[in-house]
Amino acid sequence: MRKKIIAANWKMYKSPAETKTFMEAFLPLVKGHARDEIVICPPFIDIAILLETARGSNVHVGAQNMYWETEGAFTGEISGKMLAAAGCEFVIIGHSERRQYFGETDDTVNRRLEVALEAGLAPICCVGEVIEEREAGITEEVLSRQCSRAFRGISARKAAKLAIAYEPVWAIGTGKTATAQIAAQAHEVIRHEAAKAFGKDFAQQLRILYGGSVKPENAKEMMSQPEIDGALVGGASLKPDSFAAIVKY
Ligand code: PEP
Repeated sequence: MRKKIIAANWKMYKSPAETKTFMEAFLPLVKGHARDEIVICPPFIDIAILLETARGSNVHVGAQNMYWETEGAFTGEISGKMLAAAGCEFVIIGHSERRQYFGETDDTVNRRLEVALEAGLAPICCVGEVIEEREAGITEEVLSRQCSRAFRGISARKAAKLAIAYEPVWAIGTGKTATAQIAAQAHEVIRHEAAKAFGKDFAQQLRILYGGSVKPENAKEMMSQPEIDGALVGGASLKPDSFAAIVKY
């Protein structure tokens, strides 16, 4: 049985003070919840306060991005090593907003993934098709390409902490959710690619999350699918009661 990851992607929302206020309300709501792994990925500026307020709790902390170099003259970037040193356990890699607005490609996802794993972080690697690709009937091809390129050159031993988030881009922030059937088909493609890259046993253990307009109203249905090993939640993770309701689906 794969333990589910319920992860919040706060995107570019919340100051450190707002993060503290969120945690004061959120922690009592999920106290003792051990069925799923709870992860919050805030903006970099909030990582320190999140770690401080989450200490000793069941909430794990992640980042939303990282650079593949360890250190150097890369203004505005943060390395995986720095995130790990700060106390982060997780990092989102290749979110569709990074691909769409910041030039992330399958190859840069691969470089980030490799270095995140080397730094001891657990990457949540995002893949997913845009609406034009779904309508053109090439979703499986797109997912296979994104996965095979992301996994290139990475060994199963090294990839142990990897998780994938299937996020159909047309479902992110739109209120549209993939049907359980769409998600199950996509997860099958991803698991197949993972088996090709890392072996069948690895693929069976790999956690594949679903992301795209998950909210308290649809969390139970999505999370009850055996193929869905958790959720990556954007908008609905910003309010403590809404994110807690998703965690406790
Ligand atoms: C996301 O940002 O990864 C996401 C799934 O957003 P939302 O839940 O708002 O669709």
